[in-house]
Amino acid sequence: MKRDSLVFNLIDQEENRQKRGIELIASENFTSKQVMEAAGSVLTNKYAEGLPGKRYYGGCEVVDEIEQIAIDRAKQLFGATWANVQPHSGAQANAAVFLACLKAGDPILGFDLAHGGHLTHGSPVNFSGKLYEPHFYGVEEETGTIDYDKVEEKALAVKPKMIICGASAYSRDWDYERLREIADEVGALLLADISHPSGLIARGLLNDPLDHCHIVTTTTHKTLRGPRGGLILMREDFDNPWGLTTPKGEIRKMSSLLDMGVFPGTQGGPLEHIIAAKAVAFEEALSDEYMHYVLQVKKNASVMADEFVSRGYQIISGGTDNHLMLIDLRNKNLTGKLAEETLGKVDITINKNMVPFDTKSPFVTSGMRVGTAAVTTRGLKEQDMIKIVDLIDRALQHHADEAELAKIKSEVNDWMVQFPLY
Ligand code: PLP
Repeated sequence: MKRDSLVFNLIDQEENRQKRGIELIASENFTSKQVMEAAGSVLTNKYAEGLPGKRYYGGCEVVDEIEQIAIDRAKQLFGATWANVQPHSGAQANAAVFLACLKAGDPILGFDLAHGGHLTHGSPVNFSGKLYEPHFYGVEEETGTIDYDKVEEKALAVKPKMIICGASAYSRDWDYERLREIADEVGALLLADISHPSGLIARGLLNDPLDHCHIVTTTTHKTLRGPRGGLILMREDFDNPWGLTTPKGEIRKMSSLLDMGVFPGTQGGPLEHIIAAKAVAFEEALSDEYMHYVLQVKKNASVMADEFVSRGYQIISGGTDNHLMLIDLRNKNLTGKLAEETLGKVDITINKNMVPFDTKSPFVTSGMRVGTAAVTTRGLKEQDMIKIVDLIDRALQHHADEAELAKIKSEVNDWMVQFPLY
């Protein structure tokens, strides 16, 4: 077969883009070569519907072993007793949980997308908002943080069947214990979607949702630094609370309902090449090297937040406990769109983001979200965060000055060459 140079040239271009720029998108990271090797392996050829030891296809002896290793390592990493490593993505993991735990039309209570939540937590444009009855809690305008008494008030008013915590753009830790009290008070299940900070949680740098939440979902490609994918975890299995049955009328434990929520509920054949890559990433995340990495991610974010604040940028909630921060650009007379475009011109990648109580559209926004997971993998340390904020500040101040932007871009490119990637 002729090599597809059109596609491979574009992949080379993307590799160069990643190498020459400063990657600050909070949901991105750089996996190790061995994670990519597993993801690009012959395992992509294999069908394996079902679970290890219980497949609908022959020839699964090897993938059974691989998937079992991934499950065991996921459990070890998070102190869980049950894991499903098959979700193709974070959205798929959430879809499987919703399908397992809820009936169509059930009320759910999630963190508002406009305040930093995720589409899969009840947005009207997503399955979660179309098939269920979504309600939301948010942050306080003055503090930028969640007032748990208000979450309780809302839960008492709407009586959700499931409360969802976790976010895409919330820089503070979560009070899972308080949320569990609220969930118990209204008879709801508590789902924590820890997609963003899961690497920091796995290594004990943030509160542990598994201590209190019935079910936990995460992506595997953000701070966890694995391949793109999803994961569902439980510390303890439990009887399903509402007598939910399988189509055959059998009452099953939650673990079994969740497995069925993934397959056959929302997915077909698992991606065993990605599951192998997850297994490799989980082993990496158990290492001392990764522990140093997550500590540095947190330190870098904290230094970066302080530097932004000292230059007059307004960070929602005033700072960060994790790897990211959401910056309100209104006092700088900038929109998120302009910031994203300007920084793109100097090879600094961020994303525009709505801020709580934003009056601009999601295509324009008043804010930008930045995170330190990727630059920390690249080897950047605290003093480098100060330099990054300086580059960002200069670029934003000179957003209409193409000559100055070209100068900043070459500074960025010359600097990044010093941090080899792949
Ligand atoms: N949940 C949260 C909190 C997220 O931030 C994201 C992705 O950004 C997802 C779920 C969805 O993950 P994926 O893009 O893998 O479907």
